[in-house]
Amino acid sequence: MAIFFTSLNSGSNGNCYYIGNETEAVLIDAGLSCKETERRMQRLGLSMKNVKAIFVSHEHIDHVRGLAGLADKYNMPVYVTAATQKGCYHLNASHAISFVAFVPVNVGSLSITAFPKLHDAVDAHSFIITCNEITVGVFTDIGKPCKNLIHYFKQCHAAFLEANYDTEMLANGHYPSFLKQRISGGVGHLSNAQALDVFVKHRPIFMSHLLLAHLSKDNNDVGLVQKIFEAVDKNICVKVASREKEMPVIILNNQLKISNTVILKRRKLLKNEMQLSLF
Ligand SMILES: [Zn+2]
Ligand SMILES: [Zn+2]
Repeated sequence: MAIFFTSLNSGSNGNCYYIGNETEAVLIDAGLSCKETERRMQRLGLSMKNVKAIFVSHEHIDHVRGLAGLADKYNMPVYVTAATQKGCYHLNASHAISFVAFVPVNVGSLSITAFPKLHDAVDAHSFIITCNEITVGVFTDIGKPCKNLIHYFKQCHAAFLEANYDTEMLANGHYPSFLKQRISGGVGHLSNAQALDVFVKHRPIFMSHLLLAHLSKDNNDVGLVQKIFEAVDKNICVKVASREKEMPVIILNNQLKISNTVILKRRKLLKNEMQLSLF
C-alpha cells in the first residue's frame, strides 16, 4: 500500500500537510482557511472524505487558522493536547481528542506518533506518520535540534524539515532585535545551517525525499536552500515546500522489504520510481 503526502502550504502564513494512503489520510495542522484547504486539495485530486483526523502541533495561528471550520464542517476528530486546545479558541471541545507523546495513535492503517520539541508555544509537538512500514515526518517550528528530532528524523523515508532562515540574512535584515532573538534564540525556528546539520549527520540510508519547510519570506532564499541541501546527497530528492501554493502529491510505494545489502542499489531504483510517481 502506497503512502501519499504533500504540503498544502508551508510557512508563517499557514501550514497544512496531508499524509495518507488510498482510502484514509490525516492533516497535520490546519493553518489555511477551510475554503483554501478544500480548494488546494481539490486541485490535487485529494478528497476530504479520506481525511479522518487533524493533528495539531501547536496553537500558533499559522497552524490552526482553519481548524475549527474544518472540524465543524466535516465533524472531524482533532488530536490536540489539553494545553494546546486552550489556545485554539474557536475549536468546539466535542471534536478534541488528547494524545500522549511517544504513544502511537492509529487512524485506520496509519500510525501517528507525536514527540515534544523546543518551540515557544504552550505544548508544542511534531509528528511522524507510518503506513505499511513507510514513515513520513513533519518537523517544523523547532527552536533547535533536540534528541527527539534526531531520533525520529532517523526513521523517515521522507521528511518535511524546517529551514526557516539564513543566519546572515536574519542578522543583517530589517527585523527588530527582539524578533531576531525570538526566531534564533533556541525556541523559535531552525536555521538553514541547523537543518543542514541534521540532514548531513542523521539522514537514514533509506531516506528518498527531503522537503524543506516553513521558509521565511524575508530571511531566506528558495534557490539557496535548494542548492545547499541538494548538494549533500544525489540520491535524495530535495524540494522546497511553497509558502504560496500546494506541492504536487508525492507517492511512496513500498513493494518490497529490502535487505541492507541491496539497499543502496534499491534506493537509486526507488528514487527513479518516485520521480515517475510525481504528479
Ligand atoms: Zn509556524
Ligand atoms: Zn509556531
